[in-house]
Amino acid sequence: MEKKQYWKLTNGEMKDIYLTDADIWKSIHYFFYHSKNSTTYKFGFFKALLENLSETNEELEISFEDLFKSFTKIYWNLVVHHQLWQANTSTKKSKVQSVIEDFQTRYSIPDEWNFDKIAGIQQSELIKQVKTNGKRNVIGATYGDFNEEIYSFDLKNESIKLHSAYYEFLQKYKRVLTDVNNYQLSLFLEKFNEAEKLNKLLSKVEFVTQRQSLKEFELLLKHAGFDTCFYCKKSVTKRSQVDHFIPWSYIQNDHLWNFVLACPSCNAKKSNKLASESHMNQLIKRNEILVHETPYKGYFTHYSEEKLRSYYHYSQENGFRKV
Ligand SMILES: [Zn+2]
Repeated sequence: MEKKQYWKLTNGEMKDIYLTDADIWKSIHYFFYHSKNSTTYKFGFFKALLENLSETNEELEISFEDLFKSFTKIYWNLVVHHQLWQANTSTKKSKVQSVIEDFQTRYSIPDEWNFDKIAGIQQSELIKQVKTNGKRNVIGATYGDFNEEIYSFDLKNESIKLHSAYYEFLQKYKRVLTDVNNYQLSLFLEKFNEAEKLNKLLSKVEFVTQRQSLKEFELLLKHAGFDTCFYCKKSVTKRSQVDHFIPWSYIQNDHLWNFVLACPSCNAKKSNKLASESHMNQLIKRNEILVHETPYKGYFTHYSEEKLRSYYHYSQENGFRKV
């Protein structure tokens, strides 16, 4: 029988079966250690998928818009900012790399610019191009690598719908899965790039989508009247820092609902840890105010109190401890 060419599929239905963690670990191991790839796409896409677990709606659907925004950001920063080649042959460039480099040339964007620095309207144009060229290759292929169990998809609907057991699993082991994915992506890049491009490669890959500035969120929170330290209540009008309530190493996407202002001393004390449950209840109350108000409500897509509570729970499962 001819082998199914998953990357060519335009839609796929996930198998309607009960999956245990052991079943999913088997597929995860296969994906990381045995499935084939001629470009870095599968790792780039899996990274985008992990980052976008916070963008699921109640049906566990994630839009291509969200997925490919992360995917484009990852590739822009790897290709332009870090000058890393993305295919396993030096003669044939990956399609996504070509699209990004052509775009950079057309708009004369300097290499030093990371994705955040590009104007919003140009970002949208590039995301659209990467989505058009990338979705055909990555969505079906990943579905096949995971034995038709991870999600359903339809290229026309522009979204994937995760299997609930996978959603739970990916949240529960997110940190370690992110690390293995970063490691495998780095290993691939190391094979096909010259030594001079590989300086601090693991850090480049780990922080590839990290924002350079959280100023936008600082201004928004101050504008909304939250100008005291979230933890000690001292005024922070002069020196404030933006704190990821659930640590950045767990939620890589930047959400206003997860940001609070802190004084430098509380921020240093909290660092990569979890705040207390009573602080979480305070954050829920604060979000309850912002979620209905212009201009903040636009930042609350897919937010719910349950989601924040579940993130608090999942980050504990991922080893984060309270301050
Ligand atoms: Zn403080």
